[in-house]
Amino acid sequence: MENLNIHTSTRPAVGLRMYLRVAARKPRKLGFTMARSKDQFLVFGAPLIGEAEIGEVVASMKSGWLGTGPKVMRFQQDFASYRNAPHAVAVNSCTAALHLSMVASRLKPGDEVITTPLTFCATVNAIIHAGATPVLADVDPRTMNIDPEQVRLAITPRTKAIIPVHFAGRPCEMDALCAIAEEHELILIEDCAHALETEYKGRSAGLFGQYGCFSFYVTKNITTAEGGMVLTRDAEMAQRIRTLALHGMSHDAWKRFSDEGYSHYYVVEAGFKYNMTDLQAAIGIHQLGKVTEFWNRREQLWQFYKRALADLPISLPEDPAKDTVHGYHLYTILIDEKEAGVSRDAFLSAMNARNIGTGVHYLSIPEHPLYQERFGWRPEAYPNAQRIGRQTVSLPLSQRLTDADAQDVVDAVRDILQGGRAESR
Ligand SMILES: *Cc1c(COP(=O)(O)O)cnc(C)c1O
Repeated sequence: MENLNIHTSTRPAVGLRMYLRVAARKPRKLGFTMARSKDQFLVFGAPLIGEAEIGEVVASMKSGWLGTGPKVMRFQQDFASYRNAPHAVAVNSCTAALHLSMVASRLKPGDEVITTPLTFCATVNAIIHAGATPVLADVDPRTMNIDPEQVRLAITPRTKAIIPVHFAGRPCEMDALCAIAEEHELILIEDCAHALETEYKGRSAGLFGQYGCFSFYVTKNITTAEGGMVLTRDAEMAQRIRTLALHGMSHDAWKRFSDEGYSHYYVVEAGFKYNMTDLQAAIGIHQLGKVTEFWNRREQLWQFYKRALADLPISLPEDPAKDTVHGYHLYTILIDEKEAGVSRDAFLSAMNARNIGTGVHYLSIPEHPLYQERFGWRPEAYPNAQRIGRQTVSLPLSQRLTDADAQDVVDAVRDILQGGRAESR
């Protein structure tokens, strides 16, 4: 493989120009949304992929440069300008982003990291892999986000970091969390896996503390199949993460196969293999160009569910707070068997039987045997997360949903809760 034109596409301004050009090109088709017949299963969290993504992947394959290269550089620049971030480092998952953020923070064995019991296991596993000890602080039952008062109660002399998760895309109480972090000199790492578009008092999620970690997993707000990003305001931290993500090799080691002429790289610490590939970035560049249109569509679906389910004996999510932008990643309803007349698990099966895929976000972390055995955690010690985890159901909220799909979801929910007495349209 020879001349790959890396230099032309790594100039800083190219990313922003590209992003604006992609974002300005509308109206247009956002992707493939063929009408789904009712006997076809509605897959939860299905991505919306368009011709542009496919063309870009094919172009990368034809160019012969498949690994980390010019498209990753461009995706990083586009992402940084989208979130107004000084530095963005692309990696191969949000789990890797969280892990590297903690490794870069130089946590030591015995250091404690406080996070929420209502999160994906990756948040907690990343703390374990970084060699630290996870500590849980229960959530606020209305927002489902970590409760700053519970964080205060969980702080010990060993506490070194806090990892809030902006659950479902709703921002955490960042004023309170930043105050706690400052007061106790804690590192703040935001898990923004749900929170691509999230803002709190006019500021983007991911830039309140030292690191913000994003996910481009298939079910997330935009996807690269697998992928993640670390945002940081500090150039040195960005460089450290970049080095750690590629074996600990010194600056720009990915260029060692380019036409710049041979240059030695030096290993400066024991790093990881967490780099993003150009094939992934090729998808991400075009997904990011549609981020606002996708968000608008998910907001429409959210409002539709809110109106269409309002009279049922279930709890719906709170409206987004003033002064915030909700990422609309998940629409979670709570099924309390005493009121709904059906258990949460029976409801899940009934949705499945009606060809509607659902999710559970999440069984609270202490429900899992590993954490019970390793840390002695018990679900009832975190009662808000425990109750939510046992009652919650996520309805499909992908930008891929057609109006008819969303109506099918509502019909299925009404049918189950009203014992077959669903009103027809
Ligand atoms: C999806 C998710 C992750 C992990 O993201 P990956 O990109 O799949 O590693 C971490 N935290 C939360 C809250 C998530 O939803």
